[in-house]
Amino acid sequence: MRSGETWATCPLCGRPTKLKLRPDTRLENFLFFCPKCKQEMMLDAVGTKVTRAKRMTRKSA
Ligand SMILES: [Zn+2]
Repeated sequence: MRSGETWATCPLCGRPTKLKLRPDTRLENFLFFCPKCKQEMMLDAVGTKVTRAKRMTRKSA
């Protein structure tokens, strides 16, 4: 792992994920599934900071 890279943590459960972030990472409406809390969510990421995307998707059952 290079310096500056970090594992993203799930914004819901706070556990580390398999998603790796770099200081120059930019994600928008990234569809992410957390295997720990089994939730699908949309994420934004700027650098190594992850937030939930403002625009929520609704799953059609
Ligand atoms: Zn989670």
